[in-house]
Amino acid sequence: AAKGSGRNQYAVHDEVHSENARRRLLVQASLPHAIDRGEFRLHYQPQMDLTTEEQVGNEALLRWDHPELGVLKPGDFIELAEESGLMRELGQWVLGQAITRAAACLASGDGIGVTWINASASELDSEGFAARVEDALARRGVPGHRLGIEITESVVMTNLTRAHRTLNRLRSLGVQLAIDDFGTGYSSLSYIGQFPVDIIKIDSSFVAGLDSPARRRESFAIVTAVISLAHSLGMKVLAEGVETSTQALILHGLGCDQGQGYLYGRPRALTIT
Ligand code: C2E
Ligand code: MG
Ligand code: MG
Ligand code: MG
Repeated sequence: AAKGSGRNQYAVHDEVHSENARRRLLVQASLPHAIDRGEFRLHYQPQMDLTTEEQVGNEALLRWDHPELGVLKPGDFIELAEESGLMRELGQWVLGQAITRAAACLASGDGIGVTWINASASELDSEGFAARVEDALARRGVPGHRLGIEITESVVMTNLTRAHRTLNRLRSLGVQLAIDDFGTGYSSLSYIGQFPVDIIKIDSSFVAGLDSPARRRESFAIVTAVISLAHSLGMKVLAEGVETSTQALILHGLGCDQGQGYLYGRPRALTIT
């Protein structure tokens, strides 16, 4: 019997394995046409001021309505898009969509503040990224301060000189900049102070730790240090993945400026009213 069930386990494992491989191949094959077929859309998640409890911004998060696989999240396809050289085109689509939405919000007097997008390493590192942003803003008459760009530490660290140039150019357009997933990547403290960023986004893992008995002490220490570092460099702090009111209370008490997470709202398709 033991032998039999062992064989079944392998069979199940093989099936799962080949199912994953099948999905991956399908994603890879359909990716090049997905933009033209209109299968991508952006969801938006609110960002809140922890003191006034008012919404100060929105983060655009990419979704793919795959005809066979259903709704896919970035974790299912961003890496493949990078590998197949499609990230620049996809990023350009995201930029256009987000700015179009920001323009519509402006026109309707909707005070949602800043619309943030995520930029990947290959986008930030590509020649002319800042020029494309400038162009997209100008075409739709959106002032730079209505757009924010989130980058991860590793993106900045990949090509320091180019990153610096690009970030400074974006800054001169008034575009806001944030370091995403702070604390999870590799970066040197001496670089953080040199980058012209407005906001540091504390990674959700530290936020989750705030009300987990096993990780409370460590998470408190890290969050406190990041807030103090950011503030003394003149930056604001946003906590990612805020799910409970306990976390929100603690974060506010520690001086964290903004929060984002399921407590305030899940990412969702927004229609402009
Ligand atoms: P991120 O920028 O750190 O975005 C936060 C992620 O956490 C999102 O996952 C969001 O749906 C999720 N999230 C928000 N609040 C909560 C919460 O309270 N609890 C939990 N458990 N999760 C929460 P998502 O949408 O799957 O995106 C994953 C990552 O994909 C993003 O991480 C970002 O790095 C990347 N990404 C998303 N959209 C784009 C895009 O347009 N371009 C690029 N280059 N990357 C993108
Ligand atoms: Mg982000
Ligand atoms: Mg993040
Ligand atoms: Mg994250």
